[in-house]
Amino acid sequence: MALVRNPRFLNLKLSLPQASTTTLPCCFHIAATATASTTVTSCANNTFSASDLERINVLGSGNGGTVYKVSHKTTSETYALKKVKEDMDPTSRRQLLREIEILRLVDSPYIVKCQDIFEKPSGEVSILMEYMDRGTLESLRGEDVTEKQLALIARHVLKGINYLHELKIVHRDIKPANLLRNSKEEVKIADFGVSKIMVKSLDKCNSFAGTCAYMSPERINSEDAVDTEEDKSNVYAGDIWSFGLTMLEILVGYFPLLPKGQKPDWATLMCAVCFGEAPKAPEACSDDFKSFIDCCLRKKPSERWTASQLLSHPFLLRTA
Ligand code: ATP
Ligand code: MG
Repeated sequence: MALVRNPRFLNLKLSLPQASTTTLPCCFHIAATATASTTVTSCANNTFSASDLERINVLGSGNGGTVYKVSHKTTSETYALKKVKEDMDPTSRRQLLREIEILRLVDSPYIVKCQDIFEKPSGEVSILMEYMDRGTLESLRGEDVTEKQLALIARHVLKGINYLHELKIVHRDIKPANLLRNSKEEVKIADFGVSKIMVKSLDKCNSFAGTCAYMSPERINSEDAVDTEEDKSNVYAGDIWSFGLTMLEILVGYFPLLPKGQKPDWATLMCAVCFGEAPKAPEACSDDFKSFIDCCLRKKPSERWTASQLLSHPFLLRTA
């Protein structure tokens, strides 16, 4: 198994290769009128000034930086502002560049909308996003989520994944913490830090990026991924594996590759993904849900259903 042989990858959060560039994309030019405190670059039609925003509280933080709830001083509109670390190493910088490139490309009701991007001359970058007031799907863990509620969530997430895959974008970090909810019962995909735009259809996309607990067997064991031409081109199936695990986790209330209550340690996880049986929905679930999970969690990527096929699965018909 490639990861086991190569101790460089012995992290639960795996790192990206070295960045080839440290320059921000062209949308990031500094405006002639910029002051020391604000530079605005538009990601959407309307532009904001960083000084128009008032911080309310911290919403969360991750590898990329800290996300604040902010309010627009004039309109009182609420947003989420992701402030990226200033002292970025090349890996984080590369993640930021990818995230910005993708945020500029996407426009879908199933993807968290980017309103604007700010860069200070010091290099500090902030991304202004639509605010999702119910937080991440992690907060559903431990709640009694019904299959009907889950079908609604699954439909939204799949529409987002399908949209990305049609644009030849692989998210590569689908997990409860990167799926956000709002009080309109909408669920949207966030956090494109490790996503990738597949320029050529045979671009293999095997680099170890993302949270490895949700990685598909073929991404962990890169040797499996070069078995056939079909597998090589099927990089999108990695997102479907992560999506299937995420849906199952929300229903059962714990990470489904490990017994309930077991803390994820790296070696156990890798063995479970690569050598274990694909997780299944509990016996008590409906046949539709069991079949839905089976279609997502097939160990061979070429046998997994695509996002577009899953959108017509009978399990989702109950939300139509
Ligand atoms: P990681 O690398 O650990 O996934 P990250 O640095 O990439 O984290 P995000 O996943 O983008 O950061 O955001 C971190 C947290 O901030 C999220 O888990 C969520 O709780 C909160 N958050 C992010 N974006 C929003 C938003 N648009 N609305 C509300 N909360 C948000
Ligand atoms: Mg995240």
